[in-house]
This record gives sequence, C-alpha cells and structure tokens, in this order.
Amino acid sequence: MEKIRVYELAKKMNMTIGEIKDNLKKIGVEVKSHMSNVDSDLEVKIRERISNSTDVKEEEEIQETIEKTQKTNKKNKNKLDINEEMDIVEIPANLTIKELSVALDRKVNEIIKMLMMEGTLATINDTINFEDATKIAERFNFITEMLPEEDILGKEFAKIDDERKAVTKQKRPPVVVVMGHVDHGKTSLLDYIRNSKVTKGEAGGITQHIGAYTIESNGEKITFLDTPGHAAFTQMRSRGASITDIVVIVVAADDGVMPQTLEAIDHAKAAGVTIIVAINKIDKPGCNLDKVKKELAERELLVEDWGGDVVAVPVSAHTGEGVDHLLEMIQLTASLETLEAEKQGKAKGTVIESALDKRRGTVATVLVQNGILKLGDPIVVGESHGKVRAMIDDKGIRVNSAGPSMPVEILGLSKVPNAGEVFYVAKNEKHARQLAESVEAKGRVDMLNASQHKVSLDDLFDKIQQGEVKELKIVIKADVQGSIEAIKTSLEKLSNEEVRVNIIHGGVGAISKTDVMLASASNAIIIGFNVSPDVNAQSEAEIEKVDLRVYNVIYNAIDDVKRAVTGMLEPIYEEKIIGTAEIRQLFKASGVGTIGGSFVMTGKLVRNCGVRITREGKLIYEGKLGALKRFKDDVKEVAKGYDCGLLFENFNDIKELDVVEGYIMEEIKR
Ligand code: GDP
Repeated sequence: MEKIRVYELAKKMNMTIGEIKDNLKKIGVEVKSHMSNVDSDLEVKIRERISNSTDVKEEEEIQETIEKTQKTNKKNKNKLDINEEMDIVEIPANLTIKELSVALDRKVNEIIKMLMMEGTLATINDTINFEDATKIAERFNFITEMLPEEDILGKEFAKIDDERKAVTKQKRPPVVVVMGHVDHGKTSLLDYIRNSKVTKGEAGGITQHIGAYTIESNGEKITFLDTPGHAAFTQMRSRGASITDIVVIVVAADDGVMPQTLEAIDHAKAAGVTIIVAINKIDKPGCNLDKVKKELAERELLVEDWGGDVVAVPVSAHTGEGVDHLLEMIQLTASLETLEAEKQGKAKGTVIESALDKRRGTVATVLVQNGILKLGDPIVVGESHGKVRAMIDDKGIRVNSAGPSMPVEILGLSKVPNAGEVFYVAKNEKHARQLAESVEAKGRVDMLNASQHKVSLDDLFDKIQQGEVKELKIVIKADVQGSIEAIKTSLEKLSNEEVRVNIIHGGVGAISKTDVMLASASNAIIIGFNVSPDVNAQSEAEIEKVDLRVYNVIYNAIDDVKRAVTGMLEPIYEEKIIGTAEIRQLFKASGVGTIGGSFVMTGKLVRNCGVRITREGKLIYEGKLGALKRFKDDVKEVAKGYDCGLLFENFNDIKELDVVEGYIMEEIKR
C-alpha cells in the first residue's frame, strides 16, 4: 500500500491538520504527528465517512446531549457542595480591610469595629495579615484558608479570563525559541530569517532589538524569541511562564551533538515543548548528516528518516538553503497543535525582557498571549503597575494595539518587572496599583516560605509519604562523562513503587546558573560530582532554594539519595542552650558523689541534659547531668527560680558559685 504523510493528505483533501486528524480518529486511525505516514487509501475512507455525514451528525448530536446533561448534573452537585461548606473563605496572606469586607460580605465599618475590639486601629485601605484577618473572620463564623501562592493576580483576573474564554478563539502565530551549542549558528539563523522574511518597506525592516520579532512566511506569521540561549528560556519557565510553543535546536553539521545541544534537548524536554532540529552549516564541505542523526538518536531524539517523529531540517544560515523548509515545518507543527487565542477583550501576556532606561524609564518587552493590549491600558505585572504610555513594535513603529503572539515594547511601568512574569489589564490605574501592592506584600511573606515548596533530599521522604512527591528529579554535573553515566544508572535504580528517580539532565563541567534555573523550574535537585558551583550558581541556588550537593565519592552521592528516598537520611543535631544554674551548697552523699545544691537562674534544666561547668569564667567540666533532684526526688525538669540538686557524670570536683550551663542536642532541618 502506498503511503502518504498526514499533512500531504490534509493538503490533498483541503482540510486543516486538525480536521484531518479528527477524521482519521473517527475512522479509528491515531496518528502521532503531521509527519506520520498513513495508507493512501484512507482518503477514500474519509470521503465515505463524510458522505454518510447525516448519520454521523445525528450520532454526534446525541453524544453532545449526553455530555451536556452530565455537565449540568455535575454543576448542580457542585452547587450543593458549596452550600454545605459556605463558611469557608479563601483569603490571601495579606489583604486590605476593604478586601476582607468583600470576602466576608460584611460592611467595612463592622470589620473596623471588630478590629478595634481586638485592639487594632485600622482604616479601609490598611493591609492586615492572614492571622489578624482570620481572627476577624472567625468572629463572623468563617473558617479561613490561605489562597495558594502567586494567585493574587491569577485569582483577581480569573473572571476576566473566563469571560474571554467565552469568546471564540482564533488561530494565533506560534512562538518559537532557538537553542543549541555555542557557535552552531543560532544567531546567524535568526539573523537570516529576520533579514529575509520581514516584509520590505516596513520602515527598513527590524532595526531595533526588542527581544522578539514576528516574521511572515507563506502568508502566515511566526514569532521568534530573539534570545538564543537556555538561560533566558529556563528563567522564564522558572517563573511559571510557558510562552514557547516550539523549540528549534540548532546543531552544526560539521560539529555534531555537543554538551549544550544536550542541555538544550533536556531543557526543551523538561518543558514539554515540541522540538524541531535544524542541522546547520550544510554548505560546509565534509559535513555528515547521518552522524548528527545518529547522535540525536542516542539522545532519544529519533528523526523521521530514522523511523522517529522528530522533524530535522538541513539548513544553511549562510546560503539560506533549507530555511524556507524549516519555516514550513514550524508552521505545520503549529497548525497541528492548533494554537489559538482570543483576539478581543482585555489583554494578558508575559514579560520577555525588561530594563531601566535612563531616558525612557522602565522599558518592558511583553508578548501578548490573549486579548488585545491597547495604548493607555492600566496594567499590573507582579509588583509593578502603570499605564501603557507608549507601545512600540519590533520594527520600531509606535502602535496603538497589539494582539496574540505579538511582541511589543511598553513604557509606563512603575518598576522593572521580571522576565517571565504575567501582565494583566486591570479595571483602572488604582486597581492596578492596589494589586501590585498586594503582590509586593505577599512577596515578602512568600520569600520566607519559599523553601517549603522546593524539593530537597532532607524532607523528600515526608513528601513521598504525604503523596506530594512522586518523582525525584535530578540534575547531574560531573567532571567526566563516564561519571555521569555511572551515577545516572545507579540513581535510576533507586526508583521504587512510591517514587521514581528521574535524571532530567546530565552534563560535564561546573554547576552553572543555568543548571540551577533548570532545577528550579523543574523542581529538581542538583548533584555535582568532582565539580563545584560557580559563584553565580551558588547565589542563584540560595535565592531559588534549590538543593545543591557536591560529592567527591560516587558512593556517598548514591547513598544520600538512597537514604532520602527511603527516609533514612542521618539527622543533623545542633546544640541548644536551655538554661543556667548556680551551685550554692555542696552535699557529699556516700557511694553517689558530690551533689550541688543549686538555683536555676535562667531557662530550665532537664534530666540527662548536656552540661558545662565554668568557674570564674573558665570551663572546668563538660559532660552530662547524672541526676536532677528536687529535695529527694528525681525529676524531669526544674525551671528558673527553683532550687535543685545536681549530680554530674564522673565529676565531683564542684565548688560553690560554679555556674552550670545546660544544653540539649536538637535535630535541625538541613
Ligand atoms: P551561535 O553562537 O550559535 O549564535 O553561532 P553564530 O551564529 O554566532 O555562528 C558561529 C559561527 O558559525 C560564525 O562564524 C558564523 O558565521 C558561522 N556560521 C553560522 N551559520 C553558518 C552556516 O550555515 N554555514 C557556515 N559555513 N558558517 C556558519
């Protein structure tokens, strides 16, 4: 039977990839991608199905009715549940009196009065914290729950998002990022595409750099993020932004798969983004495409002519050969993924780049993802807010509006936002400012709690037990490839029924900031073997609260992970001073030793605690409390202000006025 590619079939039948896939599915043929081969006689089968479409329609209508009924039933059920639990209210870590009054559905005055009774004076716009809000809420018979992290803006705009979703979505251009090993031609390829594909006459093409640009090929647009490199990509992802639809991995044909190629593959895979490979520099003599394909296959990237479904396109960024084909493949992949957005309503999008410009103030390049961003819109992005004072597109032209997948530079924000942060259009400027302030207030609290959200070997077992963690993701960096393989194999073997150990990236060389960002974005830990983190990586790991460990002995690394997985990591203890006492009288007890009649001056002393005795400031004994007595009785503890009798292990040489310091060893979180 003759074979035909899915996209060719779609072309032949004048359907979109989505439609052809739908039709194929309905006749029982599942395809992996638009590049998959199918029997050419399927065309006849699809036509048959369509001609019987009256039956099909009926069938679909019945199915639709069933689904609708099920949905309504479910909705009603939810309503009931809500009625029964009406007294739970979700509030953020910090909120204004006004917000609390809205959340509790009470008058502001009632709240203020209640606060006064609790001893706090506040006005309508004052912010109070979760505990204080909870006290008030309880008085109105509400149980409070803290809103999950980062959700202030998301929650605030959820309704707008829903409204927008009611609007029919339309096709939007794909957003593409180019990654790969240094010198393999990322910049050259982006330059070639930009220079050849920007419509001539558009004010001299793209002259300025704004971090992203849109090109047109075959009458359809593609947006490229102009930030080659994994750091930018992963930094955005570590902030939870997923703006990239397709990753183009550039591999130089004369050099093949190199460390950063592998890193790029791992980053793209960790993000779950479609990969297209561009094998570059094919104009060079002596390049070997098969060698590259073989190396890719070794990394589980099986290209099509090797029986896989990864699209690989040979190109030259110098001569331009193959570039059109690459763009076509990007568009095909995009149409297969049916990328859609709403082209009306208030905009929402992500910051790609930002900076403080001496002349223009805060400058941020944003990618609109939904709705239309208009000049003058009040916006909020993280802790930053403002009004869109000016909007400039990738060709340096001032524009009044920007739609989905369109990058624009905007001026007018109060603070420089972070790359990867989401912006929203607020009701008005005041609304935007208030939201930014709540985010800022919450940010301070979150910073304190941040460590609780990241995976660490120390609390891994607890998290596994609580069902919070099902997979331990690890980034390995080592001095030689051989060690990576050895560690990888041993670690993966530690997977058990409860947790899977998954090495998401292994690389040779020092632990870099990019590694930390990958780990942070993927909630992974980092293990270094015979390598150390560079300065940036170390500080980044501290900020991002990534568990980073270095080892010189492979066995130790494996042992630590093993103990973490099975809940047997050795605890670390720290000394904690619990109290001091003064010896005031000596009693000799035969066969027992010298008992110090003492007075507890601070804290308390407890049975079996560690002790240090000092005489005129000099340490004379360090050991353990042998006995702790009140009158004749052994007791568990004696508190400040009480007399007691102290006996020390193997030590009787005490004197009046000796000072006894008691301490315990406390298990601490690593
Ligand atoms: P990047 O580090 O990945 O951004 O790589 P560049 O785009 O800076 O390219 C590195 C070097 O390879 C430069 O000297 C380019 O001129 C050269 N180069 C890039 N693409 C091609 C190509 O298709 N053919 C040839 N012959 N050289 C290329």
